[in-house]
Amino acid sequence: MTRELAGPQEKCGVVGVSLDGRAAARPLYYALYALQHRGQESAGIVTHDGFQQHDHVEMGLVGDAFEESDLDGLAGEVGIGHVRYPTDGSVDTSCAQPFSVSFKSGSLGLSHNGNLVNADEIRDELAGHGHAFTSDGDTEVIAHDLARNLLEADLVRAVRRTMNRIHGSYALTITHDDTVLGVRDPRGNRPLCIGKIDDGYILASESAAIDVLDGDLVRDVRPGELVVLDDDGTGFESYQLVEADQTANCFFEHVYFARPDSRIDGNLVYDVRRELGRKLWEESGTDSDVVMPVPDSGRAFASGYAEAAQEDGASVEFAEGLMKNRYVGRTFIMPTQDARERAVRLKLNPIRDVVEGKTVTVIDDSIVRGTTSRQLVDLLRDVGAEAVNFRVGAPAIISPCYMGIDMATREELIAADSSVDEIREEIGADSLSYLSVEAVADALDASEADLCLGCVTGEYPYDIDGEATDRTVERPDVGAQPADD
Ligand code: AMP
Repeated sequence: MTRELAGPQEKCGVVGVSLDGRAAARPLYYALYALQHRGQESAGIVTHDGFQQHDHVEMGLVGDAFEESDLDGLAGEVGIGHVRYPTDGSVDTSCAQPFSVSFKSGSLGLSHNGNLVNADEIRDELAGHGHAFTSDGDTEVIAHDLARNLLEADLVRAVRRTMNRIHGSYALTITHDDTVLGVRDPRGNRPLCIGKIDDGYILASESAAIDVLDGDLVRDVRPGELVVLDDDGTGFESYQLVEADQTANCFFEHVYFARPDSRIDGNLVYDVRRELGRKLWEESGTDSDVVMPVPDSGRAFASGYAEAAQEDGASVEFAEGLMKNRYVGRTFIMPTQDARERAVRLKLNPIRDVVEGKTVTVIDDSIVRGTTSRQLVDLLRDVGAEAVNFRVGAPAIISPCYMGIDMATREELIAADSSVDEIREEIGADSLSYLSVEAVADALDASEADLCLGCVTGEYPYDIDGEATDRTVERPDVGAQPADD
């Protein structure tokens, strides 16, 4: 039995800046633009001007969420921002972020990417102490817990106490009055990095956000680390607050979620995708006249695959035989299967001249429900493909993600209880192969034990009710007084 985690999951992009002599709002706004792919449901910014906190949070895309006057009103040289991923059709303003609140211990702003697995227990415990909650999201739980700890301890100790209570994945940017903090969970599930920009420093989910501000990536925030940006923009302090034996970096960030031009945990996402494509050829290469990507996500995989094939002497041509209408929203979040199928047709159109009479290998980064692949195989046959081989740049997704990526329920996952051959038949391809888990670890230069592979192995690095874990994990006892000092 699978427990549905209560409350909406937080699948998002986060950013924080501390500048000297320059308002934070515009750099935050540009950085959020660079992170738009991580969330399109809502966008928000919280700043602090040394006296008070300002916030503006709206539903919609970054470009629609802020007017010039909104940015002018966000006074201060420090601040954080957030873009939130869409949930399946539901629009929930109470969960738009950054979450901001004023407590006796000062004002707090919080942006969260990830998902706690013990938020309910902590919420119940805090509610018992009189904390009133306005949303069912786990970010508010972190905010309340931190606020309570700040009444009794200094900033670093308070953050450590909260980290010792919360369990799950979190990359956080936080404002505590005019101090900006970044925190990454002890297993580093979601990405977070530090950059140097003009007049200050930035924390961001992905390095592409640093690039758009013409900054330089300094390094990734380490798992279990708290980074405190200096309020005069001259540097940052680092505190390694929690140590874990292993990491649990999400491999799916590299496969699908992150931008190819971002560098995460030492790897350029584009290089990883090309390498995964090369491995796909090594593991399951097949002769065909043309190799083509499913745009845009399959592009780097297909170019790696074609390059490795050509190096092996295969006479295969790389072609862009599918064109994407970039104005169609993500098919994934369409509420009904009918709408999803229509959206795939609107989004992808094959070029008959590239495909007709040819044997084709089509490459996508992943198959989730099978909607895209099933429709594509049909479309390619309709325009005269002789054979359609489907290759996937990730292992089969057999289990849901609880750690912050919106995928599908187990019932909706095509690979949850079907063999590869059954899936091949269902999508109507002549052949179908996925990538092995070993190839993923190899391409990331990591051991499997240091990756979160829950969605492809069904074993999770965190303790999730009703699911298996692939390591020894103990949930914190949320009621216990932390021994941190
Ligand atoms: P499906 O059509 O359900 O099999 O989904 C597979 C397609 O959705 C692929 O083209 C992927 O690039 C894309 N995809 C994979 N994971 C996600 C996700 N978490 N959110 C949105 N799209 C995704």
